[in-house]
Amino acid sequence: MILPDSILGVLGGGQLGRMFVVAARNMGYRVWVLDPDPDSPAGAIADYHLRAEYRDEAALTDMGKNCAAITTEFENVPAETLQFLESRVPVRPASSAVAIARDRIMEKTFIREQGLATAPFFAIHKEDDLADACQQLEMPALLKTAQLGYDGKGQLAVSNADEARQGFQRLGSTPCALEERVALELELSVILVRSVTGETAVYPVAENRHVNGILDTTCVPARVSAELAAQAEHMARKLADAMQYCGILAVEFFLSRGGELLINEMAPRPHNSGHYTLDACMNSQFEQQVRALCGLPPGSTALLSPVVMVNILGDWWHEGAPPPWERLFNHPQTKLHLYGKQHARGGRKMGHFNCLAAKLDQAIHVAEQVRAELATQRATHS
Ligand code: AMP
Repeated sequence: MILPDSILGVLGGGQLGRMFVVAARNMGYRVWVLDPDPDSPAGAIADYHLRAEYRDEAALTDMGKNCAAITTEFENVPAETLQFLESRVPVRPASSAVAIARDRIMEKTFIREQGLATAPFFAIHKEDDLADACQQLEMPALLKTAQLGYDGKGQLAVSNADEARQGFQRLGSTPCALEERVALELELSVILVRSVTGETAVYPVAENRHVNGILDTTCVPARVSAELAAQAEHMARKLADAMQYCGILAVEFFLSRGGELLINEMAPRPHNSGHYTLDACMNSQFEQQVRALCGLPPGSTALLSPVVMVNILGDWWHEGAPPPWERLFNHPQTKLHLYGKQHARGGRKMGHFNCLAAKLDQAIHVAEQVRAELATQRATHS
């Protein structure tokens, strides 16, 4: 077990790294962050910010020597980086699990191998693979790059073989998954923590709404039957067990209009749809990340209150001016989290707020009111 006052390392200095740093420091640990960006949100509050590239051997050696264990905030950290560190110090989750989640083709194939459902898809390695795939899949479909896609980036909607070929070229002729567009009833996610010894604790199922491919709102508990929630939990546990996973695992689901539960993707790290745990659960997903990393048992994942989380994007700024936060602070059960990012850009995640209330409907109502009030100022500016 790695105990307080030890040094923990995190690869990546974005908002997920930042919230990990806050949790770890609150729990008495010291944290090193590796991120080349001098303005990194996590680096700004870490005990030590190593401003180096992810493949910088000297920096990695330094981390390996000084950190008791290392985790990551993003799946796109180079495979060699994780492997280099793994030979020196515990790295959790392991590079083998991160490798699966990093690549959509590997990920979907792995999910299927566990007997779990995904949307119908084909792996497209070269243009010639498209003809057969387009014949067998129902159109419209989505063409998604196997690697480096996130928040709807690196994907295109296509409705026939010609468009698929053009799309493949536009995406750089790099390996892709061609996937049927599912008629969605709902989107759900399950976040779990699994310890070194395989002890697992699961958060309640979250209901997610995406806008333009980016998460907008999370409601917990999800408005689904107990059977469906149990099925989602079972599927998430099965994936974690199959990978002998250690850390936080987030699994995103589609519930089709036909009532089928399909796995969309997984993330080997805390997830945006788990930010509600910061204020509404006994332990946040970041505290659990610290626990798993340090070889400690999972903490309770109990939900203390219904909650709605709303993402705050750079689009909410008007000509560089932030939204009128004072309006948000008039709501006593709403909690603001900002990530300390310098520049607001369209689609950039700048922060989020959580609204708590005795009933989910009330929390939804307050969340929409806060959203509208933060937007009003923008309208008056323009
Ligand atoms: P992804 O980056 O693959 O998680 O996609 C981002 C969002 O796009 C998802 O959360 C969905 O809202 C939507 N989306 C992605 N794939 C599909 C699909 N096959 N069918 C319907 N909607 C999808």
